[in-house]
Amino acid sequence: MSTGLWIDGGWRESRAGRDDFAVVDPATTKVLAHVVDGGVEDMADALDAASRAYETWAETPARERSTILRRAWELMTERSEELARLIVRENGKALPDARSEVAYAAEFFRWFSEEAVRAHGDMRRSPTGQNWIMVTEEPIGVALLITPWNYPAAMATRKIAPALAAGSTAVLKPAAETPLTALAIAELLAEAGLPAGVLNVVCTKRSGELVGHALGDTRVRALSFTGSTEVGRTLLTLAAQNVVRASMELGGNAPFVVLDDADLEEAVDGLMVAKLRNGGSACTAANRIYVADGVADEFTERFAARIASVRHGNGLDDGVELGPLVNESTQRKVAELVDGAVRAGASIAAGGGHDGLPGYSYRATVLADVKPDAEILRHEIFGPVAPIVRFESDAQAVALANDSEFGLISYLYTRDLDRGLAVSRRLRSGMVGLNRGVVSDPAAPFGGVKQSGIGREGAAEGMREFTELKYTAIPFH
Ligand code: NAD
Repeated sequence: MSTGLWIDGGWRESRAGRDDFAVVDPATTKVLAHVVDGGVEDMADALDAASRAYETWAETPARERSTILRRAWELMTERSEELARLIVRENGKALPDARSEVAYAAEFFRWFSEEAVRAHGDMRRSPTGQNWIMVTEEPIGVALLITPWNYPAAMATRKIAPALAAGSTAVLKPAAETPLTALAIAELLAEAGLPAGVLNVVCTKRSGELVGHALGDTRVRALSFTGSTEVGRTLLTLAAQNVVRASMELGGNAPFVVLDDADLEEAVDGLMVAKLRNGGSACTAANRIYVADGVADEFTERFAARIASVRHGNGLDDGVELGPLVNESTQRKVAELVDGAVRAGASIAAGGGHDGLPGYSYRATVLADVKPDAEILRHEIFGPVAPIVRFESDAQAVALANDSEFGLISYLYTRDLDRGLAVSRRLRSGMVGLNRGVVSDPAAPFGGVKQSGIGREGAAEGMREFTELKYTAIPFH
């Protein structure tokens, strides 16, 4: 397993001369590897490499860029089991979750290998009749990519693939909790034929310092960040200094609305995925479950029965559906939110606590009769806890769902499509799962409104985050 800095097509030690940092397996709490801790000198080298590589990469025919991305998809698919196991070891999620993450992550290489060759732009005639207006999409330049720990492969490929497809080059700074997957992806891209310097990876324990340095470098023209809203705000301010294009995939606090005519079995199936996928550590995780009063008891009973049968354990063990949380502070935070909700009058319909579970686990938990103003509904839980709140009318459900500074995704269950579309239209989120518990798709524009972000990832829109429009005026003869 390589644990160095990936700069200019090769492994390197740090020029900053700091001690390596430890990556911990959340299931055993043991050290898995030591990774080189990059400093500002290393970030500067990575930016030099990306900037040099840009000169030729931007001029490389799209077909060649596409072939390399396609090869990356093939390699990632061939190695999916190996990569999935690496993700489990550094992130803790259960193996089935890690396998779906690798498949999803690889799809970004395939999708953007196909998108790379669709040359966008057009030719218009000026209303004066005197000019052609030629509009082309140009690669934006060097992009800084920053990813979180919860999807160490998919959050990286969702940025790398469109940046490279567009002809831009990049420096990736993965989360310190999960750097190994990012390094494996860099190596895989090199094997797929990616020229030196087009993608560089700098791992560090001092994100603020290194990212601050990078955003002070005028060669960085795009910032693509996935992480918390709090850090996103800081980075937007820093990006403003050099007027850097910023795309932000930030926090979510997704409402999951079950109307009184919903197919309850389907809604329970949907919530099992929307809540438990990735152990609840997903920006798309259903966090606030609003259920129509008339069906709330039956829904809660059915859902609690399913949750109570979830198999916990080390994510690598056979049959395990739910692995541990990423670290001790997350475990503590989840426990505090549950305890607070119970003190405020909620009852535990399933789960609660972490006794007898490995590492930083927390038991899959259902909280019933949560008050609409409960503190737990104000936070991204980022764990396997489902607070259920009752509502009286569709209008009240919409008001409760929209009562959040976040607006990434909402889920809605109803048998009536007209009613579903009417409610869905009123939900203030960038995405809606209408009778679906999962929406992620490389061919769809993923992203949020309000404080959940700016910009979109995936689909054709995802590539535009790494291009700029250029208009050339040409005389019309
Ligand atoms: P985080 O904001 O703490 O960290 C995200 C990344 O930013 C990491 O690489 C981290 O090292 C880096 N970082 C932290 N502080 C920094 C600073 N001051 N300057 C520069 N970089 C800094 O988030 P996290 O805990 O790793 O991830 C969880 C969050 O990510 C949740 O809020 C979740 O909703 C969000 N998320 C959003 C999406 C989405 O697509 N909207 C997807 C996944 C996760």
